Amino acid sequence: MTTKIPVGILGATGTVGQRFIQLLDEHPWFEITWLAASDRSAGKLYAEAAKWNLATPVPPKIAAMKVSAAAPDKSTPRLVFAALDAAAAQQIEPAFAEAGHAVVSNSSAFRMAEDVPLIIPEVNGDHAPLIKTQSWYKKNGGFMVTNPNCSAIGLVLALAPLHRRFGIDKIFVATMQAISGAGYPGVPSMDILGNVIPYIAKEEDKMEAETRKLLGSLNSSSVIPADLVLSAHCNRVAVEDGHTESVSLKLRSPAQADEIIAAWNEFRCLPQKLKLPTAPEQPIIYETAPDRPQPRLDRDRGKGMSAVVGRLRPCNIFDWKFTVLSHNTIRGAAGAAVLNGELLKAQGYLG
Ligand code: NAP
Repeated sequence: MTTKIPVGILGATGTVGQRFIQLLDEHPWFEITWLAASDRSAGKLYAEAAKWNLATPVPPKIAAMKVSAAAPDKSTPRLVFAALDAAAAQQIEPAFAEAGHAVVSNSSAFRMAEDVPLIIPEVNGDHAPLIKTQSWYKKNGGFMVTNPNCSAIGLVLALAPLHRRFGIDKIFVATMQAISGAGYPGVPSMDILGNVIPYIAKEEDKMEAETRKLLGSLNSSSVIPADLVLSAHCNRVAVEDGHTESVSLKLRSPAQADEIIAAWNEFRCLPQKLKLPTAPEQPIIYETAPDRPQPRLDRDRGKGMSAVVGRLRPCNIFDWKFTVLSHNTIRGAAGAAVLNGELLKAQGYLG
């Protein structure tokens, strides 16, 4: 008999769903017992329903599991990781919270809802108590927690230690985002090969709003957004995995380069103190080589959970500029949600 906590995955057949399966296979605390996807997949064996796109093989136990419909049933475990399309999530995720489940979601549908915590455990794990203001939680212990957009996560990891030490006033960021960020089959090859697409629907608005919520502070029943301005330019590039971002920022108090680099390299937080299984030892790594970070070389640092920063130099418009890279389907999606699940367990929310 297993002593692990049973977990389910909603949207288990998609790009992020597959990463969940990869990260939760052999997880020390959690065990996948339930998988669900759309009506197209429900009733099939997982191996028939999913076009497995990862370099590690699909775990045999998962391949043989039946995919359920995306509705809570008697076999759905309390903890459900969700990787649904935003439109589907809008309808489906509340039904799980309503039925008493702990929904740890990747979707944008409820990230900005006033009573839903939007969490990066290293940055704002202290926002989790917002759960207690949710009507589902008061009624039957069900709740919802979200992780940010894949491009906001890398940026905010790099910003958080600087915001704490020096204060941030203004941010300009231009992203180069991988095609896996668009799910599967995603952007048609005829559109992206040899090309850059300077538009990702709703992405710039999400980065701007989510960054302020993540760096904000919790009062008793809501998050007061951080007092900073951000201008984001989001681009899709022909890279498989890993979002790269060029950032310029204006600080509230002066900082030297060595102080900024130390703030990044020394940044450790709640997940490292709690030794959460998916927490990287070093959440932010500063690379000194002049041509790093690069997606192919750096996206898997810290098992895909570390943000890699480089090229810190003075900015002629603001104070400093740098490059940050993070793995969009691990730190930017499934790994972020698994770390949120671990934090919730450590904080006692899984009961
Ligand atoms: P995806 O590859 O398109 O997968 C979508 C999943 O949702 C599939 O399992 C699909 O099941 C299921 N689904 C779609 N419509 C459904 C419905 N009406 N009812 C039930 N299930 C439904 O997308 P993805 O890239 O994994 O993204 C999933 C979510 O994570 C999105 O909200 C996305 O914005 C977010 N996200 C993605 C990334 C990334 O890097 N890819 C990063 C951060 C956040 P079928 O296979 O049966 O159709």
